[in-house]
Amino acid sequence: MFFKEIQGQQSLQNTLTNAFQNQHLAHALIFNGREGSANLALALALARYLHCENKQGNESCGKCNSCLKHHKLIHPDFNFIFPIATTKKVDSKPTCQNFLPDFRKIILKNPYFDLSDWLFFIGADDKQGSIPAEESRKIINILSMKPFEAEHKLLLIWLPEMMNVQAANALLKVLEEPPQKTTFLLVCNSPQSLLPTILSRVQPVVVPDFSEIEISTYLQKKLDISSEKADNIAYLADGNLAEAIRNIEEIDNDNYLWFQEWMRECFKRNYKALWERMEKFDAFSREIQKYWLQCGLDICRESLLIYYAGDKNVKVSTLKLNFLTAFSKIIGDIDTIKKLSEELGIAIYHIERNANTKMLFFNLSLRITQTFYQKTK
Ligand SMILES: [Zn+2]
Repeated sequence: MFFKEIQGQQSLQNTLTNAFQNQHLAHALIFNGREGSANLALALALARYLHCENKQGNESCGKCNSCLKHHKLIHPDFNFIFPIATTKKVDSKPTCQNFLPDFRKIILKNPYFDLSDWLFFIGADDKQGSIPAEESRKIINILSMKPFEAEHKLLLIWLPEMMNVQAANALLKVLEEPPQKTTFLLVCNSPQSLLPTILSRVQPVVVPDFSEIEISTYLQKKLDISSEKADNIAYLADGNLAEAIRNIEEIDNDNYLWFQEWMRECFKRNYKALWERMEKFDAFSREIQKYWLQCGLDICRESLLIYYAGDKNVKVSTLKLNFLTAFSKIIGDIDTIKKLSEELGIAIYHIERNANTKMLFFNLSLRITQTFYQKTK
């Protein structure tokens, strides 16, 4: 990970590298940031920078022996501790060592993931995950050895708040008597869950949430997402890049097709299909549910625009335009569209307030069906 690969966060990058250059960098840092922030990415970029043999100002060179190893996360003096759980493959006494290849893999895929992504990745998504007591031995082992290749050893602890008491005490002990030539990089989502005695011995680096623009830019540049879709996803993600990446898979680019099918089912009073749709709807996250209904609201607005002002005022694909034109003919009077928009708006409001989305969606479908029925009879 290079600093330049991280969207935004420029001033933090400069603060960290300048501190190193001025020999003010603390021996233990804690990168505090919300889930889906750049806290892990920044710690990884700093680790590479600290080990780089040919630093280029505020960035690592990317070419030296050390950088090449960091590129694959296999530098022998870069150690990782992270939450783990039992899985089918490792069904008793799991250690970080068991999962190290997986941990490298998920980071190399993208360093913006959260605990649930990680547990899902290793097939332990029904488990809690923790950093077990055995890892305290690893901390002590790492510290008792001399560096293999670099001048300094680095120990990155992802989510130290997941440490079991024994592991946390082991960490506290080494932080109390900081060993020579070792830098600790703690990457934390909820520092308030850590022992105050640990917190008082580490220098905080406060990592802000990503902005909407930063998330959208990342999705477009790194994941080749269209700007319209990237903006939508970024808007929903609320500064959480991990959530944004998850949502890509759930949100279909042609979101109007979903709405189109739904409206057809309402129009035809196909209750069986509506019931099945409700089951699918319920399986989405609330953010996605809101997104679908919001798409419906947008479609209502566009249809109305077509109805009153003609299709030259709506910039969409031909396929979508055909749907909108047909749809505006069905609902294209001010009362029906008002009613439909109102219903969608109320449903979004209730989803935000944790309503039972299953019944909410089915009732909504019934009311829309009724609205269409009254219009056509
Ligand atoms: Zn280098």
